[in-house]
Amino acid sequence: MQEEIENIETLIIGSGPAGYTAAIYAARADMKPVVIQGLQPGGQLTTTTDVDNFPGYKDGVMGPEMMEDLKAQAERFGTDTRWGMVTKVDLSNRPFKVEIDNTKNVIAQTIIIATGATAKWLGINDEKRLNGYGVSACATCDGFFYKGKDVVVVGGGDTAAEEATYLAKLCTKVTMLVRKDYLRASKAMQHRVMATKNLTVLFNHETKSINGEPGPIGVESVTAINNITNKEIIIPASGFFVAIGHKPNTDLFKDQLEMDENGYLKVIPGTASTEVEGVYAAGDVADHVYRQAVTSAGTGCMAALDAERFLSSQAT
Ligand code: NDP
Repeated sequence: MQEEIENIETLIIGSGPAGYTAAIYAARADMKPVVIQGLQPGGQLTTTTDVDNFPGYKDGVMGPEMMEDLKAQAERFGTDTRWGMVTKVDLSNRPFKVEIDNTKNVIAQTIIIATGATAKWLGINDEKRLNGYGVSACATCDGFFYKGKDVVVVGGGDTAAEEATYLAKLCTKVTMLVRKDYLRASKAMQHRVMATKNLTVLFNHETKSINGEPGPIGVESVTAINNITNKEIIIPASGFFVAIGHKPNTDLFKDQLEMDENGYLKVIPGTASTEVEGVYAAGDVADHVYRQAVTSAGTGCMAALDAERFLSSQAT
């Protein structure tokens, strides 16, 4: 006898703020959402400590706790949250065929993609050792903790320039380590960097080590090396921000959905709709500019509302 294939009305891929917000709206609209949590249940916020900028938490909240709250809120309305990874999708026909964990096949009437983006790291040991103790990949999230202190930012693109100028408003001194002899950032951002008095750019410099101890001590300094002269310098700093880009988690959708040159999903402006009817994108997977929990939650809401309208139009 042939196995019956599960038919899911609203499949949400990813369990960050975008995925769970979409789930809250979808569940309340009786769209029977199933959230497939992915490799990092709760998403990027589960790797941060204090979240002080999500509206509603007046005293701040720990990232993992906030994600548990969002999950519980989605489940309160009947969201079915599942462990697992989506391993294949076929968006060529609706309902869409989806494979989970390389084994189980389901079909989905609508799909909300909220797979997020992953910050790129340098790949040195100290980054892992001191992550959460002074090492961060998000200035907007963590910059506040370095008010009145010195920090180092790595990278020479728009993200690094933006993070460095943001941090310069809070910190005493910001040092940017740029591995080439020029900034890749846009001209406007370059001007802003150069015009910021407490921001120093060290060209041709790479990170050799981040010095300090996990726990209350945290990051104390950064050893940088000039890649032309091999001369090393030690920069006193309490924070080390890696800003060398993000990789959107869109490999699954290659050749099926339109993406920009960096692999971010394209949506129809002002909506969460991709060009494939019934497929929506929310959160960082479709946003390289804002990348905040609250903007992700906002687009998660949009995706659920767009999906709801689509399902209603199909039913009539
Ligand atoms: P980019 O890829 O543009 O820049 C990455 C930077 O990090 C480069 O300077 C690169 O150096 C450096 N880098 C990469 N790997 C390493 C490494 N291992 N060690 C040291 N340095 C390294 O990424 P961004 O995140 O800055 O930008 C991504 C896209 O998003 C761009 O198109 C950008 O314009 C856009 N963006 C737009 C914003 C806006 O409009 N407000 C804000 C932020 C981003 P190298 O040059 O040597 O490769």
